Amino acid sequence: MGYQALYREWRPKSFDDLVGQEHIVTTLKNAVNLDRIAHAYLFSGPRGTGKTSVAKVFAKSLNCEYGPTDKPCGECTRCNEHDKGQFMDLMEIDAASNRGIDEIRELRDNVAYPPSEGRYKVYIVDEVHMLTTEAFNALLKTLEEPPRNVIFVLATTEPHKLPMTVLSRCQRFDFNRISISDIENRLSEVVENKEMDATQESLFIIAKKSDGGMRDALSLLDQCLSFVKPGETLKQDHVLEVTGSVSEEIYKELMSAVQNADLNNILKITQKISDDGKDWGQFLNDLILYMRDLLLVTIDNATDHLLLGSRQTLESLANEFEKYEVLSMIDFLSEKQNELKWSQNHRLVVEMSLYRLVKREGIYQKLEDRISHLEKLLQEGKYTNIQKPKEIVRSKHQDNNSEKEIESYRDQNTYQDQNNDVSTKKNALSNEKEETEEGSQKDEKKLSFEQIEKHWDEILAKLKKKKITAHAFIVEGNPIKVEENILYLGFNKTHRLHKERVEQKERSVLQEVLAEFFGDIKVKCLIIEESEANVPSASKKKSNKQQNDLIGIAESEFGPEKVEVRKNI
Ligand SMILES: [Zn+2]
Repeated sequence: MGYQALYREWRPKSFDDLVGQEHIVTTLKNAVNLDRIAHAYLFSGPRGTGKTSVAKVFAKSLNCEYGPTDKPCGECTRCNEHDKGQFMDLMEIDAASNRGIDEIRELRDNVAYPPSEGRYKVYIVDEVHMLTTEAFNALLKTLEEPPRNVIFVLATTEPHKLPMTVLSRCQRFDFNRISISDIENRLSEVVENKEMDATQESLFIIAKKSDGGMRDALSLLDQCLSFVKPGETLKQDHVLEVTGSVSEEIYKELMSAVQNADLNNILKITQKISDDGKDWGQFLNDLILYMRDLLLVTIDNATDHLLLGSRQTLESLANEFEKYEVLSMIDFLSEKQNELKWSQNHRLVVEMSLYRLVKREGIYQKLEDRISHLEKLLQEGKYTNIQKPKEIVRSKHQDNNSEKEIESYRDQNTYQDQNNDVSTKKNALSNEKEETEEGSQKDEKKLSFEQIEKHWDEILAKLKKKKITAHAFIVEGNPIKVEENILYLGFNKTHRLHKERVEQKERSVLQEVLAEFFGDIKVKCLIIEESEANVPSASKKKSNKQQNDLIGIAESEFGPEKVEVRKNI
């Protein structure tokens, strides 16, 4: 017998040989034992996860001379013919090869004849979603009126492409990707059986590379085993060479170099990758996967899902990075991956991407753009997304010497939509009324400093809308005091020019805005000492307030669990 590919040689011959897919195997075994056989099955799942293998074992179980049994004997004529792929009543149709036109036609002509030697005729239609419409219709017709003792197993990697009329007539089984450890165990078994040697690391890499598909894993092992000299042990380096991958050490070194801004080392690494003739696309792809692993290693119990890195190495590396950094880098490199498709010079794209990672150029751009956009909205008073509950304020109102309770609704939300201008004014006025009425000592007509302080942000926002240049000068001043309906604005020495400009040109527009809130108010400007300017109560309060609003916005944009407030940055 000539050379047979490993995946053919190791094709499962019984249900017990199958790796993974326990849920499907158990159901099918029960179906065989209880003689509850459906006439059509749909096996869907990723490539190489055992769909046709299961279908063949199923057919063998039904047709074994000592069956139907969930343990076909493997010795009778029919079992032997099954194993050799010569069993007359098992028909395989590959819809992908010629879209199945001839085969389906033949199927339609022959399906009515009883099985020639077994109990059941089994049709396995692989990649069934590739059938032409004509072939589908022919198939559907037989599915609608299935002849006795005919079983269809339709296999597909893309079940969503199948028409509902077909789906509804099948018993469906979804095949999962096979776990890395299951694949690794099977590979060990194969190597041992071949009386060859392989390190556990090498098999682990093969298992990871095969993305849950046993067929791919066995094919890759096949390639790797023929790469080593007779008697030599298969090692990690061999596998990396065969697959064109880069070792974890390189990725680790690269990530450290990125974090330490070590451009020299990065150039050394890219030179080595170039010298080794690695594929830049795969290198970039693996680098992204490595970063994914770097994120995963910080999550409890997620280490089983690592694709490229080993837990120990990743854990030591993870301490050097913030999660958001890694996330941003993944985003950035994924974009570069697309760029690579259209570029003539792959090395250049990768090197420049790494350079920008080091310089953090454009990496956090999206986040920065979003924050500055929010800040702008906030400054312009256009941000209305902060939903704070409206508070009911009860105030006592004197009327004809009798006490009467009235309720007024105070909207706490300082930042208002442009359309709400009128209501802002109303609220400000009604608040003012309440406050003056509450304090019986105060002169009702006089404006208090607290009112100015309270509405200062709104006033500035209005001012900015009205005349942006006025805002630019006035914003440098701070309300200092209010006396006899005169608001004093304090500027520190370095803003002397601003003060003068306000006095000469911008005072009237500020007074206009103030009039909207409080009526007729005059404005005077002062130069204040540095110490006063540093901590005027209004501006201190203002910055706290702005900070709180920013936190509120950040929380409503990104979700409260993602917002962390740090001091002293
Ligand atoms: Zn048998």
